[in-house]
Amino acid sequence: MNQTLSLYRLQQTDSQTTRALTRLQAIQEILENDEALRVAREQAEAAEKNRLSAERSLRQAEAAVRGQQIKIEQTEASLYGGQIHNPKELQELQNEAAALKRYLATLEDRQLEAMLADEEAEAAHLAAQATLQGTQSGLNERNRSLSQEQASLQREIEKFDAERQAIANAIPAEYIETYNRLRQQRGGVAVAGISDSTCAACGSGLTPAQQQAARSAAQIAHCPSCGRILYGS
Ligand SMILES: [Zn+2]
Repeated sequence: MNQTLSLYRLQQTDSQTTRALTRLQAIQEILENDEALRVAREQAEAAEKNRLSAERSLRQAEAAVRGQQIKIEQTEASLYGGQIHNPKELQELQNEAAALKRYLATLEDRQLEAMLADEEAEAAHLAAQATLQGTQSGLNERNRSLSQEQASLQREIEKFDAERQAIANAIPAEYIETYNRLRQQRGGVAVAGISDSTCAACGSGLTPAQQQAARSAAQIAHCPSCGRILYGS
């Protein structure tokens, strides 16, 4: 077979493999990057903490109101129990009951505020959990499709490897060496086609004689500018 054509096919196979490997690498990075999930999880945890704290505050506010009510009941029991007759003492008890009731109103206001805060924290927690679940299922969906793509790319790479082996076996070792060296030096592209009388890799113009040489099966022609092997179809 025309060696230049074989080298050109080798180049095509290697370029396809490189593209597949690059995509595999990108997929790996996407799969490892779980930033969105991490943020959603953190927010759900913070919301859960807030909810627990609001619930605790509400229980404390409720207990304070109940405690105050008990104090008022006890004070009123003494006041109306009929066992205290001293007018000064009775007056003091009355004042005390009034003071306890005034403070009860303050405690009840606080309880109401705590109740509203608790409801808000509960709603925020539910919302954060829903976001987390949405993020999780979105990622699961995405990861499934990326995993499928990974598997198909790996199969392609195996196929390219087998093709490459078959092509390379038919090329003399010295050409393979030149090819490998050029690939290394020229960004992975050792063989360039000719398009509109120019080297398709570097864009340098080619004379008719140079193009003719690139089409010849008898020799290997190099681009006078970038040094790549030229393939003229
Ligand atoms: Zn060139």
